[in-house]
Amino acid sequence: MLVNPKPDTLQKLQLLSRDSQYDLACACGTNKLDRRTHGSNGKWIYPVSLPNGGSSILFKTLISNVCSSDCKYCPLRQDKDCPRCTLNCDETVRTFLDYYNNGEVFGLFFSSGMIGSADKTMEKLIAPAETLRKKHHFKGYIHLKILPGSSPAAIEKAISVSNAVSLNIETPGKEFLEKLSNKKDFLRDIVEPVKLISKLIKEGNRRVKQTTQFIVGAAGETDKHIVNYTAALYERIGLNRVYFSAYQDSDQQGNAGSQERLAREHRLYQVDFLFRKYGFTQSDIIYDRSGLLSIETDPKEVWAKNHPEFFPVSVNTAMRYRLLRVPGLGPVAVDRILERRKLAKISSFDDIGIERNSKKAGKYLDFGNRQQNKVFLFNF
Ligand code: SF4
Repeated sequence: MLVNPKPDTLQKLQLLSRDSQYDLACACGTNKLDRRTHGSNGKWIYPVSLPNGGSSILFKTLISNVCSSDCKYCPLRQDKDCPRCTLNCDETVRTFLDYYNNGEVFGLFFSSGMIGSADKTMEKLIAPAETLRKKHHFKGYIHLKILPGSSPAAIEKAISVSNAVSLNIETPGKEFLEKLSNKKDFLRDIVEPVKLISKLIKEGNRRVKQTTQFIVGAAGETDKHIVNYTAALYERIGLNRVYFSAYQDSDQQGNAGSQERLAREHRLYQVDFLFRKYGFTQSDIIYDRSGLLSIETDPKEVWAKNHPEFFPVSVNTAMRYRLLRVPGLGPVAVDRILERRKLAKISSFDDIGIERNSKKAGKYLDFGNRQQNKVFLFNF
């Protein structure tokens, strides 16, 4: 293992923020490409989408990239020969406050490799957050990663200083995690703590968000496995957000397998949006015979093509849930339609000012024009 005997704080941040880029549990960036890059104005400053739907600029870093675990997909696993270091509490707090007082960041996200044990690592993650809350009276956004296998006491303490917490579930089931790690026990180290986090947040009536992340394509799982598990996490445990991270082997970046996993990740995010914003359920998601989502066509349009009996949807009379099923119409466009039609009949896209995707949506909508209906029947 390479160890720089005395890296300064900036050298540590260079290394640790680079290594935190694949942790998407606070969704860095605003689109699938920049989620994996550093913010433009600094290497550890990121624009992020927050679990409650807002956005912010966060100071995001690993506290340490030392790790005693063995996750096969991770470039930081114990047997990898890479430079390692750990930020101490004082330098973490000082660095954050410098950026915060300059107005460059509004909150933070801390994660870490496993430094020996989960609880020992949690102490290092919680200490700077606690110092900021208690000593510096920081009231802004704090997101802490919870390590697999953390004790109830460590989880409770992390929740008490955070606005959001996340424990990465990684795989949709025990049999898949066993392919990736000999050290983590899926039920004991991941599922039970995820349930406990949810219980503590609910029982304490706390306004803390809970998120998690799947790694896509590392364990032979299908999209169907991930989607079904995601639905269960929303329905049974009440998670606020689920994130997906395509497995990126550093030796294979850019190759076909890696591109395919990125495409799968994109489709999984679309399904996640269908669940959270469009009223879709598990049974609405359509897969190929191997349990994968279509790469060519987005999951909402796949559903529409398989349900011709549902269309055309009347733009002037259909209820909101029916309009939300129309490919090319998002919640904002649907709300605009609902508002506009209170005032007057809608006879074309010009009436509602929707240009983007209007061609796609037009195939599924009925404006009540005879001519348009003929075209619809012909095209469908
Ligand atoms: S515990 Fe985290 S840092 Fe360590 S090998 Fe697993 S994923 Fe990587």
